Amino acid sequence: MPAPAPQAPGGAAADLAQQGPRSRELWAEAQRLFPGGVNSPVRAFRAVGAEPLFIERGEGPYLYDADGRRYVDLVGSWGPLILGHAHPAVVAAAKQALEKGSSFGAPCEYEVQLGRRVLAAMPAMERVRFVSSGTEAAMSAVRLARAYTERDLIVKFEGCYHGHADALLVAAGSGATTLGVPTSPGVTASLAALTLVLPFNDMEVFDRVMRERGREIAAVLVEPVAGNMGVVPPRFGFLERLRRRTEESGALLVFDEVMTGFRVAYGGAQAIYDIRPDLTILSKILGGGFPVGAYGGRAEIMRRIAPEGPVYQAGTLSGNPVAMAAGAAQLTELAKAGVYQRLEESSARLAEGFLDALREAKVPAYLARVGSMATVFFHDGEVSDYAQATRSDTQAYGRWFRALLGRGVYLPPSQFEAFFVSAAHTPAVVDEVLAAARAAAREVAAGGGA
Ligand code: PMP
Repeated sequence: MPAPAPQAPGGAAADLAQQGPRSRELWAEAQRLFPGGVNSPVRAFRAVGAEPLFIERGEGPYLYDADGRRYVDLVGSWGPLILGHAHPAVVAAAKQALEKGSSFGAPCEYEVQLGRRVLAAMPAMERVRFVSSGTEAAMSAVRLARAYTERDLIVKFEGCYHGHADALLVAAGSGATTLGVPTSPGVTASLAALTLVLPFNDMEVFDRVMRERGREIAAVLVEPVAGNMGVVPPRFGFLERLRRRTEESGALLVFDEVMTGFRVAYGGAQAIYDIRPDLTILSKILGGGFPVGAYGGRAEIMRRIAPEGPVYQAGTLSGNPVAMAAGAAQLTELAKAGVYQRLEESSARLAEGFLDALREAKVPAYLARVGSMATVFFHDGEVSDYAQATRSDTQAYGRWFRALLGRGVYLPPSQFEAFFVSAAHTPAVVDEVLAAARAAAREVAAGGGA
């Protein structure tokens, strides 16, 4: 383990939440270069009333910022880094591949190695196509589902995120209508209207919509454990209901396991809940920290993809050798005995420790966790859908975020995100985090938090 980097002078609690001089300098320039200073919105820290740190490097459970300050990382690049930063096996595999060339635009053995592992992990996938992001995978799966079923409508659930393709950047319309409305300017109303948006975990509404319109629906997309409104597990029987009704109506069931794939279990949420979706979307852990996405499923459906079939989808950097090698190395490490058991133990202790700290300080909080993904909602009572999630006290979350960052713990900069525990979060690191959490909870209760 590396020696701790120099902390802020005097170790004052709030200092680590403030940008150091180098981050401040880079941030000033980044704001002139990039919209909002960033290349992906949530990184700007706007939801938590702070300014982002520039990260120079990561090692195991730690991030080091441009001023050399160390943080325990509970974001893990938003999920991919389940082994922690710069895991030696992943780094070695990527280096070895890179030395032989960065891209060929032609088949390579690393694709076969990763493809073999994916199909072995998820028996519902009989064929897979690699792409470069979760967005690209979800967008392609929707096109394929529409082509295969010769239907136009798709169903998604409120609070689930499937990337930023037009058809999926859609929210629930008002009142009783399930017709989607664009969540971003630039998404046309006519396209959004082909996406029906239903409440997550609501079986009655789902049954009604499938009864009325099931035969027009090409695909039902779901995060089997929602992670993009904070973690919201499926209610008992919800996923089974989706499976049954889609089978009856001929719609494809698409599991978006971008976050949950190789996270909640090696075989993803479909292994835990024992459901075989028609199509699965993957990304994040699959790429070992490199840009990789994938979609796959029954051979009969996947055969429609070009060049075997007529549904067009392509990518210059798809199956990139460095990314494939890194992904295959990461999956090899994850397949070793005991990894998920250890992740479960450290995640349980860390997440429950957060909850205990907040309860002791009398701050209302609700913990949702599936394996090594979790969210503490600043909410009085259960969170089982988007409406409940959005009743959380986001101001309190901002205080919690800043109070922990100030003590060297890096959480997702939004209430509506999961935090991730990695295999590099050893019991000693968890202790370090929980000591910070107890002090942070008292600060939240006092209405403080820098
Ligand atoms: N689906 C899910 C469930 C996700 O969590 C994300 C990203 N967080 C995406 C799709 C989109 O992936 P990407 O950011 O790689 O485009």
